[in-house]
Amino acid sequence: MCLQCARMERRNFLSLAGTAAAAAGLWTAGLSAGLAPRPALARTTLAADAALAQLKAGNEKFVAAPQLCAASLANNRAAVASGQSPWATVLTCSDSRVPPELIFGGLGLGQLFVARTAGNVADPAVVGTIEYGAEHLGSPLIVVMGHNRCGAVQAACAEVDKPEKLPGSIGSVVQAIVPAARAEKGKPGDFVDNVVRENARRTAEHIARDSPVVHELVHEGKVKVVYARYDLDSGRVAFLG
Ligand SMILES: [Zn+2]
Repeated sequence: MCLQCARMERRNFLSLAGTAAAAAGLWTAGLSAGLAPRPALARTTLAADAALAQLKAGNEKFVAAPQLCAASLANNRAAVASGQSPWATVLTCSDSRVPPELIFGGLGLGQLFVARTAGNVADPAVVGTIEYGAEHLGSPLIVVMGHNRCGAVQAACAEVDKPEKLPGSIGSVVQAIVPAARAEKGKPGDFVDNVVRENARRTAEHIARDSPVVHELVHEGKVKVVYARYDLDSGRVAFLG
């Protein structure tokens, strides 16, 4: 597809985006096989607290016996090929050491709905993804998970100390974290680690407050939004709020 065709498609996309029916049509068009218009599987019956307990148990398993984390993907694949009903949504860092399916106990296909960006930044595409997981797929729990020694957070801390022009679009990622870095500057403890926590907290708050879709689901008691910090050294996830 040439660039012009891509622009035309985008214009058509935007002109259709105003109504729920049109939005459903776009999903039907199939942005990917994993984003089917309606899950063929029944929605999960897990409530948010049960989903959270399941994640905690999975992480315990990952820490205590990581050799048990090999998921039986061959058996799992056919069961979810026709639809998905994930029971938790995780927004975390793109860092190669932070794959949520492994960290939460070797989860197989179709269990977690995952969005990953450097520094677990929630731009509009990420918020839309999370809304889809919660509203459309019925995922009852949203976890925003940062991690120690996060490169994106380190860059935001450096930016507060000494601003510089970053190449390409990296600056937009870093700038999204800078408010958390400014808020934590000068506080006791490790600057970067403090910002990891604060950035995850602010991102969770942003999703719960500023997304009308998530906000309503939270208000109705159907969805919970929590934030967490993953420790690269111990493998443990601490749920912070
Ligand atoms: Zn990171």
